[in-house]
Amino acid sequence: MSEGLSFTFTEEQEAFRRSIRQVVEDKIAPRAAEIDAADEYPWDIDAVLVEAGFAGVSYPEEYGGAGGGAVELCILVEEISKASAGVSLIPAVNKLGAIPVLLAGSDEQKRLVCEGITNGEHRMSYCLTEPGSGSDAAAMRSRAVRDGDGWVLNGSKRFITGAGASDLYSYFAVTDPDGEKGRNITAFLLSRDMEGLSIGRKEDKMGIRGSPTCEVILDDVRVPDSAVIGEVNRGFQIAMRTLDFSRPTIAAQALGIAQGALDFAVRYCRERRQFGRPVASFQGLQFMFADMAMKVETARLAVYRAAKAVDDADPDVSYWAALAKCYASDVAMSVTTDCVQALGGYGYIRDYPVERFMRDAKITQIYEGTNQIQRVVMARKLFGLG
Ligand SMILES: Cc1cc2nc3c(=O)[nH]c(=O)nc-3n(C[C@H](O)[C@H](O)[C@H](O)COP(=O)(O)OP(=O)(O)OC[C@H]3O[C@@H](n4cnc5c(N)ncnc54)[C@H](O)[C@@H]3O)c2cc1C
Repeated sequence: MSEGLSFTFTEEQEAFRRSIRQVVEDKIAPRAAEIDAADEYPWDIDAVLVEAGFAGVSYPEEYGGAGGGAVELCILVEEISKASAGVSLIPAVNKLGAIPVLLAGSDEQKRLVCEGITNGEHRMSYCLTEPGSGSDAAAMRSRAVRDGDGWVLNGSKRFITGAGASDLYSYFAVTDPDGEKGRNITAFLLSRDMEGLSIGRKEDKMGIRGSPTCEVILDDVRVPDSAVIGEVNRGFQIAMRTLDFSRPTIAAQALGIAQGALDFAVRYCRERRQFGRPVASFQGLQFMFADMAMKVETARLAVYRAAKAVDDADPDVSYWAALAKCYASDVAMSVTTDCVQALGGYGYIRDYPVERFMRDAKITQIYEGTNQIQRVVMARKLFGLG
């Protein structure tokens, strides 16, 4: 197995991080609490990201993207998540939706997606999960049936991030119901305006509010052959590969949430006085903060190790991506919970952002495969179970 490595950012990557920080500080941080309270897609912030040139980060320049790779996307998502995890899902989920096309799509599909997301014309979602199939994604019931020179799709997906705001969808459906499980699924590129495609219930969530999570319903949606992404019946492999490539981004989101909460709690505990001195002077709290810092810094190593694995086409990318997603999200949950504790009663109320960070952290242990599934992926690699 490929080994861990020491990692430093280039000058360009450091400059890129500083430029995002500025935009986050000026435009995103001041809106973060409102976005959480209103739970509405922040179109104003979406426009800010496009204008700043951030929407096209990690899309190949040859197809109209802004260039950069998984490391740059993780920097972007980490920095935004320090202020708003909900907003960080704008670039994270566009990319999740687009990866199937980047991995296996036609040149025409790649241009549509890369150019469109970069210039703000398109947004994308990834439609894998169904009411009856979450962790066991290959058990999906959505069907696509051959019809003349095209396909007719029926079925529904649940918990689709960005649905409604997105106008493009990568959608996975069974194309060979009698075929072997996992070798009978095809990926399709659908668009919001197709007849028969509708957006169902919007979920009322604990966290990542402002990022819509909805059902996507297909009722006799007819598509031409050109809507197929990659090869027929190879869609499940594309779906799993997509998650390998996207999990480092979710790990970066978790890292940003943890760092954002930690930064706030450090500032608070320096100021807050009890027993005639700052609470930061109590060793009981100092040790808690040292533990949090260890977790956050080791999570950072894991995140960028996994992002490098994506950019370097490392054969063990599944392992590194699962490790980073699982570890960084467990760190985010533990650190944000401790930050609430460090603020005492003030940690528990909405005037301070740490309770939002704690609510936002939870989803990172669940989506793009629960952390139980990440451990399954890692164990398979460790024991050579294929
Ligand atoms: C807010 C939100 C946004 C989401 N966004 C998207 C999206 O954009 N696109 C998309 O396709 N999906 C999305 N999802 C779906 C998400 O990926 C699934 O919810 C997740 O993979 C778990 O599936 P499930 O909810 O059906 O849980 P289940 O699979 O029913 O799992 C229930 C429990 O059983 C455990 N479990 C299951 N199998 C095993 C096993 N083999 N070993 C050990 N434990 C196991 C799980 O870890 C979990 O604790 C989103 C979900 C949420 C809540």
